[in-house]
Amino acid sequence: MKNQFLFQELSQQSTWFIVYVLMVLVIMVVVTIQTTRDIGRPLVRLSEDAERFANGGTPLLQDLNRVDEIGKLSRSLDYLIRQIQAKEEVLMAQNEELQAQQDELMMQQEELQEALGKTEENERYLEKKNRFILSLANTLDKTELLSSIIRNTTEVMDADKGVIVMLNADRDSASFGVSQSGLDQLRKGMDDGPLVRIKETRLPFVLIRESTDAERGYTEELSRTYELYLPVLDAHQTIVACIILSRIDRKFTDQELQVIIGLAKQISLALDKLAMFEETERQRKMTQDMLDSVQEGIQLIDLSGETLQVNLNFCELLRYDNQLASQGFDLEQFLSYLQSRTAEPDRLIQYVRAAVLDEGAIPSGSIVFQMSGPQVRYIQLYAEPLYRNQEKWSTLLVYRDFTKEYEIDQMKSEFVSTVSHELRTPLASVLGFAELLLTKELKPERQQRYIATIYQEATRLTALINDFLDLQRMESGRQTYEVENVAIDQVVQDVFGLYRVQSPLHRFELDLQTEQTVVYGDRAKLRQVFVNLISNAVKYSPQGGPIRVICRQEENRLLVAVQDEGLGIPSEALPYLFTKFYRVDNSDRREIGGTGLGLAIVREIVHMHHGEIAVTSESGKGSTFTVALPLAEHSLSHPYQGSTEEAIAPAGLSKGNVVIIEDDLNLTELLREELTSSGFRVYSFSTASEAVAAIEELRPDAVVLDLILKDGESGWKVIEEIRKNPELRTIPIVISSAFEEKKKAFDLGATGYLIKPYHPDTLSKTILLAITNHEATGQILIPDEL
Ligand code: ADP
Repeated sequence: MKNQFLFQELSQQSTWFIVYVLMVLVIMVVVTIQTTRDIGRPLVRLSEDAERFANGGTPLLQDLNRVDEIGKLSRSLDYLIRQIQAKEEVLMAQNEELQAQQDELMMQQEELQEALGKTEENERYLEKKNRFILSLANTLDKTELLSSIIRNTTEVMDADKGVIVMLNADRDSASFGVSQSGLDQLRKGMDDGPLVRIKETRLPFVLIRESTDAERGYTEELSRTYELYLPVLDAHQTIVACIILSRIDRKFTDQELQVIIGLAKQISLALDKLAMFEETERQRKMTQDMLDSVQEGIQLIDLSGETLQVNLNFCELLRYDNQLASQGFDLEQFLSYLQSRTAEPDRLIQYVRAAVLDEGAIPSGSIVFQMSGPQVRYIQLYAEPLYRNQEKWSTLLVYRDFTKEYEIDQMKSEFVSTVSHELRTPLASVLGFAELLLTKELKPERQQRYIATIYQEATRLTALINDFLDLQRMESGRQTYEVENVAIDQVVQDVFGLYRVQSPLHRFELDLQTEQTVVYGDRAKLRQVFVNLISNAVKYSPQGGPIRVICRQEENRLLVAVQDEGLGIPSEALPYLFTKFYRVDNSDRREIGGTGLGLAIVREIVHMHHGEIAVTSESGKGSTFTVALPLAEHSLSHPYQGSTEEAIAPAGLSKGNVVIIEDDLNLTELLREELTSSGFRVYSFSTASEAVAAIEELRPDAVVLDLILKDGESGWKVIEEIRKNPELRTIPIVISSAFEEKKKAFDLGATGYLIKPYHPDTLSKTILLAITNHEATGQILIPDEL
């Protein structure tokens, strides 16, 4: 029982326990449920609210009013949330502010970016411009400059090709990447192509066209070519040039157009510079041309002695190197040049220094100095100071070739001494002997001797005067030459014939090394050449000896050397031998008479025959004068015809009537004497009118006419009258005059021309010849002057 009791007890206890446990459990469940309801859920809500808040939602916070911990917690959370929200708003505001600031910064940055872009662009433009300016050839040569402009513009503008054409008269142009034919085409169409628009608007424009096949190259697609026409204006807004740039398939942007307009200004400046240079250059050339055409040498020297400019004649006269002169030179250089090149340089240097540097007395007037060199030259120099604003800034030195004047001066004094010696001496004899003959009773032999001397001296005088007049005539170009084929060997033989008799001491030899000796020339003048040379050879070999004339041929020239073994000529005299009146003046030849005209005449005649004369000589050994004359073209087929004397008709011809018209009674008498003794009947008149009347009546066989008649009447009138009359026209007229006017006389119809003084028998021969020819052929004859 106990057990049972115990069991009961135990069972009861267990039941109680179970009830207890159950109760505990129920309480626990109730407590748990209560706890879950009162704590868990609000906590979950709280956490949900917190999470919602964290996710940006709005928390509900239902337990704010609870007084327990949950309420506290909720309130705290609520407070926190409010705090956070407040803070967030502040932050949001700040953020917005920051955002605004950031936006502003961004804007500023963009602006800066833009400004930077512009600066970069500007920089690029400046760089392009700079590159362009630098690359423009720094040249003042137009072609080079234009080429450089177009090449660089095309490059800077990234164009495919380009052309620049100047709108000047020459349409100067240059191109880059354009064919010559394209360029020609453009230049041709300048007056009606797109350039007309440019000329009118003076504004650039772009022309768009289909690319040509050539432009497209191998690309098959169609493409367009953009052609930019750009005017280049000068400072006065006048178009000076036009640039055309082409781009294939690439437009010209506005920016690029701005760039090119800017470059056009640079181009205009370069062209302006070129135009200015060309103008200056033109002016400079004009001045230089003017200076160069001035006969005088001109030298402009500044105050420091630097030569600024010279002309061509300066270099020519002073034999100053052209190259050196063009580089400019200083005074010391110039003076040392003068020192070495002039005779008596000190005087000249002093003059130049005084004129240029105002050192010493300032010279007035000119100075004449002698330039040494192969050919001595005399130069007259005068100085002119130049002033600017009343202040001297330079000196102009003017050089004039004074050689001719100097030589004329020399000649004058030589002439005076020649005249005084050569004229006075024979005149003194003529006068002296004539006086003796007039005043004294002399034996006939003496009379004869004196008359012979007078005749000789008068001949000498005549020769001198003839020489002088001949030379004058030749030099002035008034000498007429009657040309024919002349065999020089015959002429030489002829002259030898004269001298063989006169000079027994000499041996005359002709060495003919060629058969061709015929030259085309004036026989009388050529004879004079050899008379002068051979007579000199004779005269200047007073001891006698051989006089050799050697004829040889050199190509188509005949060389005739006249050699003697006489006194010879000092070498210093050789350059002057052919100068008028020049005579070698030394003791061994003082006795030998002469005028110094012979060789000058020889030279003139030889030159007129297109020949040359040269001399070689050794003092004391002899001289050789060589004359070179062009041979006549068919010399052998024109043999020598014989002298005039031989051509004169033999005696036995019937003599005729001759009218002499002459105002000098003595000469009339002399001619009458001569013609009468030759068998003519002579009628003489001193005036034209008397003579013409008589001729009409007498119908003479010949007329001898002086050109200057009584009372200043002219002989030309007589010729005209006679030639006008058909019945008198054929009468031969022989002019007898002191003047050489052959051409005019023959043009008017004269038959012969004799220059006074002539030997009277020349007149007879000429008249005889004229009559004979007239009768034989009825033709006009031109006789040789004797
Ligand atoms: P001229 O004989 O009348 O003096 P020229 O003109 O003929 O004049 O000659 C000029 C000078 O040349 C002469 O004075 C003489 O001294 C020199 N001369 C010319 N020919 C010879 C010669 N064959 N031999 C030497 N001297 C000569």
